[in-house]
Amino acid sequence: MDLQLKNKVVLITGGASGIGAAIARSVGQEGGTPVVVDCDSEAIQRQEFEFRDLEIQADWVAADLCRLENCQSSVTLTTEKFGRLDALVNNAGINDRVGLENGTPAQFQASLERNLLHYFYLTQAALPHLKKTRGSILNISSKTAVTGQGGTSGYVAAKGAILSLTREWAVDCLASGVRVNAIVPAEVRTPLYEKWLAQFTDPEERLRHITSKIPLGKRLTLPEEIAAMAVFLLSPKAGHITGQHLYVDGGYVHLDRSLT
Ligand code: NAP
Repeated sequence: MDLQLKNKVVLITGGASGIGAAIARSVGQEGGTPVVVDCDSEAIQRQEFEFRDLEIQADWVAADLCRLENCQSSVTLTTEKFGRLDALVNNAGINDRVGLENGTPAQFQASLERNLLHYFYLTQAALPHLKKTRGSILNISSKTAVTGQGGTSGYVAAKGAILSLTREWAVDCLASGVRVNAIVPAEVRTPLYEKWLAQFTDPEERLRHITSKIPLGKRLTLPEEIAAMAVFLLSPKAGHITGQHLYVDGGYVHLDRSLT
């Protein structure tokens, strides 16, 4: 299937690692141009080498998205360089364990800065450009938005708000034809996931426990499986899909618990 992403410019936050990197690679492999915004310069450097080998045309902005001006300049740099913007993937986030009983109000606010505010800043800056291309927006949320996790009020509040904003922005953008959707991952093996797992006394046992409860295949989701849904949603083939929350999780959130 031709996803018609050739020469489309796609801005991807947190695109140098994990899920974002898989999305950037898939956009490039479909002939599009991923523009990655990420604060991890070493990951960016590794990705530059990888994409050169794969002959993927891409660009990078090394920046911390917790700063409003970095969000705005990422969009400006992209549109000045490529003359257009076809899609925005809001993906950067961190499961930072700021909870009811293990976080201060200031830490809660900082968690919202890390996980939510830049989704709004980027979307607001990108929208005028996306209107010109009838482009699309993809927000990465988390199953914790609907299941809770415990000890992570900031992260979960952000991920819930991201699902609500997906609906809100889909309505806002109806007239301009810009589509807005969300992917809800559950358990995807990425550097962030490895860090989270490492907090447990026996990470391998914890991993076995989790995978035993994932109905389809008793395994974690691959970043490439999130990316496959992402490129479809960004493409004109998904032209009548907006305001949707797509769960790519092997049935983890919705299927009958007696299956496990
Ligand atoms: P990851 O492996 O840590 O990759 C995220 C990338 O984003 C990293 O390079 C990170 O840099 C960067 N980043 C984070 N905050 C940033 C900021 N403020 N400014 C610029 N760059 C920033 O994470 P992932 O597992 O792929 O997660 C991607 C998204 O999926 C997140 O929103 C996460 O909540 C969501 N998600 C993941 C899972 C999962 O199982 N992995 C499940 C549900 C939802 P640093 O490494 O320097 O922080």
